[in-house]
Order: sequence, then C-alpha cells, then structure tokens
Amino acid sequence: MIIVMNNTATEEQIENVVSRIKKKGLEATISKGIEKTLVGAVGDERLLDPELLQALPGVEQALHIVKPYKIVAREWHKEDSVIDMSGHPIGGKHIQIISGPCSVETTDQMEKSAKAVKAAGVKLMRGGAFKPRTSPYSFQGVGFDGLDMFRKAADNEGLPIVTELLDIRHLDKFLEQKVDVIQIGTRSMQNFELLREVGKVNIPIILKRGMSATISEWLMAAEYIAAGGNHNIIFCERGIRTFETYYRNVLDVTAIPVLKKETHLPVIIDPSHSGGKAWMVAALSRAGIAAGADGLLVEMHPNPCEAWCDADQAINPDELKILMNELSAIAKILGRTISD
Ligand code: PEP
Ligand code: MN
Repeated sequence: MIIVMNNTATEEQIENVVSRIKKKGLEATISKGIEKTLVGAVGDERLLDPELLQALPGVEQALHIVKPYKIVAREWHKEDSVIDMSGHPIGGKHIQIISGPCSVETTDQMEKSAKAVKAAGVKLMRGGAFKPRTSPYSFQGVGFDGLDMFRKAADNEGLPIVTELLDIRHLDKFLEQKVDVIQIGTRSMQNFELLREVGKVNIPIILKRGMSATISEWLMAAEYIAAGGNHNIIFCERGIRTFETYYRNVLDVTAIPVLKKETHLPVIIDPSHSGGKAWMVAALSRAGIAAGADGLLVEMHPNPCEAWCDADQAINPDELKILMNELSAIAKILGRTISD
C-alpha cells in the first residue's frame, strides 16, 4: 500500500503512520519528494484498512496496490479456466449456450421447452422455479413442484439444469434434485451469506452482475464464493441500469474484455434481461459472442405470448435454432466451438 502524506505533514505525523504499519507486521519505507512524502507499506497489505489510515492527521490518501480479489484474479492464474457443467465444458475454446423459459410453469410447457432446447443443439436448460419479482403480487414461481417438473422434463432429453437459488434455505433441496448449475441473480449478487453458502458446494455457480454493480464489486462477490472453496464460477453480464428508458437494461459489452482481462473464469451474457425484448436478443447475442463471451443464458418459450413471466423477451424455438447457426459461424471465425 502507498500512503501519500500531504505537503504540510509533520515528522511526527509521518512517524505515526510508520508505527501503525509496523504494528500490523509490515515493513515501512519512506520516500521524501520535493513536495510530498510517500510511505510504502510492504507485506500483506490486506491487513491495512485504507480508510483508517486516511483518517490519520497528515495523510492525504492511502492506496492499495494489489487487487482485493485473489482466487478469481488472472494475476494469480494466467490460463483460462474451463469449468465442467455436468459433462459440458465452458471457457477456453468452449462456448456454451443455456436456454429455456424464464420460469417453470407447467409439465407440458417444460416438456415442450426441453424438446426445443434439444432440437436447437443447445446442451443445457434454464428455468426458474423461484422468481425474484419486483412486486410481491406478481407470480413468484411454482416453487419446489416446479423444480421437480424441470428435473423430469430435462432428464427426458438428457439436459443438465440451471436454476436460480434465491434463499439459503432451499439449498438442500437443490442438492437433492441434483441441480447441475446454480444461478445467483442480479438482486442477490451482494447477498454475502448466500454467496458464502454456495462457496461450500462444488456445483458451478453462475453469478449475475448486480444491475448497478461495478466490475470490482462483481469480482469481489465472486471472491466470496471462491474463498469458501468453490472455484467453479461463471460470470454473467445481464445488462446494467442507465439513464436510457427505451430498453430494459444496457448490455455492457465493454465488461466482456475487461472481465476476461481481470479473471481467468468464464464470462457469459444474458441478452434477454439486457434488452428486455425478443427482437433484440439475436443482435445482442451476436455482439456478446463476437466480443469474447463464453456463452449465453437466453430465454426461450415454446409459446412466448403465453409466458407467465418475461413474455416480451422470450424467443421462440425456431428463433433459437437460427441463433445457434449464426453463433456457430461467429465462434468458428474466432477459433472456438459451441456446445460440445
Ligand atoms: C433470470 O435469469 O431469470 C433472472 C431473474 O435474471 P436477473 O437476475 O438477471 O434479473
Ligand atoms: Mn426472466
């Protein structure tokens, strides 16, 4: 850490900073410039709190020089991590598409969805049994019965399932139902207790970006999971809030190369919750894969007009097929493959 003293700092104030650093077991180096003095703290700088140091008299600024995330950082793991999602790799050269309805509704809807997912060549299926809705009066998901329906329909087509965990108390049931990939939604990205719990299991976790979260907050949320021992984390950019009201959210394409630089873990995008309209899904999906994303989490409904949740943004089975062909062509140009 570097502590910048202000230009009126006294010798006594500099000594005070040095002694605080030493008390934490770090070395302190002093470098005196013409206008300012810099104090360098050498050692495990995570033991020092910049806010506490900044509150000391004579201190202008205290800056960390190493990143506050470690396990998820590319700095410590240069190669791309490839994560196994029940037999389907994601990361490195492997792109995976995950598709299915926003919400589990009925047995018939889930059977039709699973068939459509399979027919499009998609290898993993999504669907929410528990829905995080803005209004408590909106449909909240069919709950554990929905999870049973989902498991059966997906098993019939040999598809691993991806579903959102909203509540720590549901985790045992998720494990019993052998959920293949757990999704942590945008509203839960900083539910630290939930993150800690999924850090204790070995199942891949899709960590969606909080709708107003910075890249650094998102990486630290992932570090919560990783610190518990579960390193199978997939980041999902699902659109962020901006001043624009034309569309639901803004797909932050810029986040893709940035995340790829900062972390070795796979990064996918959700083109459905980004634009919020079915007609935007293909364009956003192509942009995401072209920008280097490792996959998609995309909403598809056998009959979008009748969807119980997010009807506007669901594509239909035929549109999913077309999209898969387009994305395969983009992946090929980039020397990557989809859905092996
Ligand atoms: C979802 O994928 O079903 C969902 C609710 O997404 P988000 O958390 O991104 O809103
Ligand atoms: Mn949805």
